[in-house]
Amino acid sequence: MRSVDEVAEMGCCGCFGFSFARKPEKLGRPNRGYGTNGWSREPLLQQQEVEEGEDDDDDGFDSGDIINDTSTEDEEACHSPVKRSEEILIDRAQNGLICREIPVKETHEVVRTEDEDGNKMVNEYAREHKIGAGSYGKVVLYRSCTDDKHYAIKAFHKSHLLKLRVAPSETAMGDVLREVSIMKMLCHPNIVNLIEVIDDPTTDHFYMVLEYVEGKWVCEGTGPPCVLGEDKARKYLRDIVSGLMYLHAHNIIHGDIKPDNLLVTASGRVKIGDFSVSQAFEDDNDKLRRSPGTPVFTAPECCLGERYHGKAADTWAVGVTLYCMILGKYPFLGETLQDTYDKIVNNSITLPDDMNPLLKNLIEGLLCKGQASISTACLKLF
Ligand code: ADP
Ligand code: MG
Repeated sequence: MRSVDEVAEMGCCGCFGFSFARKPEKLGRPNRGYGTNGWSREPLLQQQEVEEGEDDDDDGFDSGDIINDTSTEDEEACHSPVKRSEEILIDRAQNGLICREIPVKETHEVVRTEDEDGNKMVNEYAREHKIGAGSYGKVVLYRSCTDDKHYAIKAFHKSHLLKLRVAPSETAMGDVLREVSIMKMLCHPNIVNLIEVIDDPTTDHFYMVLEYVEGKWVCEGTGPPCVLGEDKARKYLRDIVSGLMYLHAHNIIHGDIKPDNLLVTASGRVKIGDFSVSQAFEDDNDKLRRSPGTPVFTAPECCLGERYHGKAADTWAVGVTLYCMILGKYPFLGETLQDTYDKIVNNSITLPDDMNPLLKNLIEGLLCKGQASISTACLKLF
């Protein structure tokens, strides 16, 4: 049982230790479109993304191929993770276990207009510019005319999501709905906050209105690109671990921890974003099959195609992230996906002799093949 202090440290109202009647099922996600030969390194560093022009002035997704379905019959036999996460989250809501003070606003009407300066508007939000492109849609910066604050809006076209098949019985729409239902229950200073969901049944548009986080992890200093000083890395790591412990305590697996999904506020606080491949579990049995995440951040057990523990895989990804922060490069990167996986599984990491021994110990602990779960112990070491 967790102490009150531990719970408070996680920024939670105390909704831990819940148990449910239903058992979690095996989960399976296709490893989207990564071949084993002849690929450029680019796909090893990110999830597949939508090719879109910067000038595209629409707010949603309007091009792209249908993602290859690489699932096996075994995966097809698994129950839908979307339904499972949905059921789990509904159960949590019904049992009063969602610890949000302010629920996510649900809007069922979209009014698309222009303001007096000709900026496109979605309801009260005026479009500024695109800030990100992802697997299924794009992220655009908007300013609210109601409170004059910035918001990041993740915009999708439902018809396109419904056409994108990610498993034999699942479409990308399921992924987005799961992302929404998971984010609806989260409330933590180190997790990007979902403010509103706009879904008008009479239009094709679907929007997630998120708190806007100004930057990614900022790189500075004179070392290789993206090397952070030890002090900043320590601070960022604390934030990441704090957010991740909150998720894991709620039996939520992030599934794609990496610098791209770690946003940094103007005051230097890291917030975990992008819950597009996250999963909710009922208890500590967090077994998954196949990683939907990003190859270079993938844990060895996922590379081997075995069932693996999602929390441990998140922890491994934190280790890769810390390694990147300190050394400005990936610990295991090959020319192809298979080469990368082989290195993750077989190679050991090499760390500079002059590295702070506590930091060395921590990186080695996080990138220890087959380690368990993230804990405050590792922070005390560093
Ligand atoms: P995907 O699942 O498609 O990767 P993300 O949620 O990671 O989607 O969003 C893609 C990119 O958009 C991020 O890498 C980031 O640059 C930007 N972004 C996403 N959410 C926010 C936010 N709340 N504030 C600022 N930028 C964001
Ligand atoms: Mg992302």
